[in-house]
Amino acid sequence: ECEFCNRDGTGDECHQQVGDTPKPSIYSKEVNEKWSALLLEISKANDEYKECPSSNCSCHFSVIQRDMSNFKNGITHQMIKAAQTRGTKYQIINHRLYRAKACMFPARCAGVEHFLSKIKSKIPDIEFILNTRDWPQVSKYHNQLQPVLSFSKTSDYYDILYPAWSFWEGGPAIKLYPQGLGRWDRHRESLKRASEGWSWDRKISLGFFRGSRTTEERDPLVLLSREEPDLVDAKYTKNQAWKSNEDTLDAPPAEEVSLADHCRYKYLFNFRGVAASFRLKHLFLCKSLVFHVGDEWIEFFYPAMKPWVHYVPVRSGATKEDIKKLLNFVKENDDVAKRIADQGFEFIWNNLKMKDVTCYWRRLLKQYSKNLKYKPSLDESLIEIKYSS
Ligand code: UDP
Repeated sequence: ECEFCNRDGTGDECHQQVGDTPKPSIYSKEVNEKWSALLLEISKANDEYKECPSSNCSCHFSVIQRDMSNFKNGITHQMIKAAQTRGTKYQIINHRLYRAKACMFPARCAGVEHFLSKIKSKIPDIEFILNTRDWPQVSKYHNQLQPVLSFSKTSDYYDILYPAWSFWEGGPAIKLYPQGLGRWDRHRESLKRASEGWSWDRKISLGFFRGSRTTEERDPLVLLSREEPDLVDAKYTKNQAWKSNEDTLDAPPAEEVSLADHCRYKYLFNFRGVAASFRLKHLFLCKSLVFHVGDEWIEFFYPAMKPWVHYVPVRSGATKEDIKKLLNFVKENDDVAKRIADQGFEFIWNNLKMKDVTCYWRRLLKQYSKNLKYKPSLDESLIEIKYSS
């Protein structure tokens, strides 16, 4: 017999028959205690967070400072020569843009040149090596210090981060985006519109992911989805390397889902791919809650975004149980979840405009030019890039 019951079986703590599992209300003491450590962490993260002015890409300055601090003793001509095999050589001389004739990925070079052409009139004479591969180049453990610009890296690399080509063009080509993912300006608008059609209360309360198996780190979520389809809808799609169902974790590949259709779902997952995934920035614009797995692989705008302020951090190597716990937490704390989703949207909307990307490029190359120890002269083997967009 329940010791808290009144004789007639009523009483606050006595709703259940003996043998029933108690189902606490989300406001009950039990739930608050269950989640108190997480709630405290969230409130601390939000208290400590300071918004940055959204006018001049200043949110991202510390990344430039950190990357360039490795080169405080200057960038010499020898260093550039040594780095030359790691990427494509560019020069800006007399405010004209030049590039080595061959570019490993022409669409990626074009995506970068869109921005370089916009800023060349403000940049003093410089030269730099730009890596268009997915992978960073200059490991702190295996290489001498070399100045190479890359779009993504971990803290194990000296590479200098630049904004990815895919803000304009040259992103992965999938069936839905056969020209390659790009045109961030258009995605910003179309995803914002999609988010308006799928307001928070209308969204389907499921964790969601569509993408290829570029890393096995995505497996636990896909497996959880197979076990608990009422909690998660996560499936593998084909990519160009797909050969058999083994590449989609022993299931037929799923149809691709457009980024706008991601907005139907309340909880959107991001994982690293080969390097950072271009997916991340898009997810925020749905005003859904972003679950960001792992914190090692970054693009230039990642460090300004904070766990529990803009997204739910999920540890790299998270198990099905870890993910399930976090999903249960956000489901039981819907107001907290919505607040983080809104803050994530606001950050990207205000601080990752096309103007901010151009601004970052300008600031980066101005800082780079200050570290360059010599005045480069035109390399006659380069071709002039006259970009028209
Ligand atoms: N993508 C998409 N819908 C899908 C599958 C992929 O919009 O159904 C996008 C995704 O957002 C990402 C790109 O296509 O930006 C490549 O995704 P994939 O998972 O293949 O690679 P990764 O995330 O490792 O770059």
